[in-house]
Amino acid sequence: MIVIPPPRAEPASPASEPVLRLRGIHKSFGDTQVLKGVDLDVHRHEVVALIGASGSGKSTLLRTANLIERIDDGQVFLAGQDVSDPRTKADEVRARIGVVFQHYNLFPHLSVLDNVTMSSRVVHGVDKAAAERRGLELLAQIGLADKAREFPDRLSGGQQQRAAIVRAIATDPELLLLDEITSALDPELVGEVLDLVRELGLGGTTIVMATHEMAFARDVAHRVVFLDDGVIVEQGDPQQLFGNPVHDRTREFLSRFL
Ligand code: ADP
Ligand code: MG
Repeated sequence: MIVIPPPRAEPASPASEPVLRLRGIHKSFGDTQVLKGVDLDVHRHEVVALIGASGSGKSTLLRTANLIERIDDGQVFLAGQDVSDPRTKADEVRARIGVVFQHYNLFPHLSVLDNVTMSSRVVHGVDKAAAERRGLELLAQIGLADKAREFPDRLSGGQQQRAAIVRAIATDPELLLLDEITSALDPELVGEVLDLVRELGLGGTTIVMATHEMAFARDVAHRVVFLDDGVIVEQGDPQQLFGNPVHDRTREFLSRFL
C-alpha cells in the first residue's frame, strides 16, 4: 500500500477556517456567463467531488480558485486570506495550490524527477539534493522510482498522471485541485490514478476534483457538488446526493450514468 506522508502541520488559521472559500463567484467570457454566483467552502482534509455536464463551468471554477482565471465578481479566500484582492500576487497563491489537469501535465523535455522537483526548487527554494531526495521518495511510493530519470513519453498515461499528482503534492500544497485527471486515459489505466487520489484523501490531503467517475465520487468524496449552468444546484453527502437527489436537474444529470 502506498503511504504518502501526511500533509504539513496545521497552519496558524483557526481549524474552522475553510481552506478554500468561494463567495459569489461570477465569470463571463464575452457574452457567455459561465459562473453565476457560486459559493463553496472546502474544509481541511475534505475531498470534494465536483460533478456536472460538460460546459457547466467545473474547469472554470477550479481555475478561478487558483487565479488562472480572474473573476468578474465575488471573492476567493485561501485559508482566510482574500486572494481575489487585485493586489494579491497570483504566483504566491499558485505556490500554495497543487493542480493536475486532464492533459499535458508533465514538461516533456524534463525527466520525471526534474518535473517532480522543479517547483520545490524554483518556487520554494529547496536545494537540489533535498528536493531530489523527497522526489525519489514520492516516486518510490507510487512505484515509479525506476522511471525517475526517464522522460515523460516513456511512461504510460496512467504513470504520467500519477507522476503529475506527485509533482503537485511535492511542495505540500494546502489544496489539491484535480480537473478530470482520468478523462483522457485508456480505461484500464484509470484505476491506478484513482487509487492514488483515494490514498491521498485518506492521508488527509484537501482535494477538490472535477470528475465524471461517479462511482469513485460516491466512494471517496466526503461531499459531492453538482454544478449546472454555472450554479451549484445541489451538494451533499455522496450517499444522499447519488441515492436521493433533491433537484430534478440533479436527477436528470445522474440518470445519464445509469
Ligand atoms: P466544464 O469544465 O464543466 O466542461 P468549462 O468551465 O470548461 O466547463 O466551460 C464552461 C463554459 O465556458 C463553456 O461554455 C466553455 O465554452 C466556456 N469557456 C471556458 N473557457 C473559456 C475561454 N477561455 N474562453 C471562452 N469561453 C470559455
Ligand atoms: Mg472541464
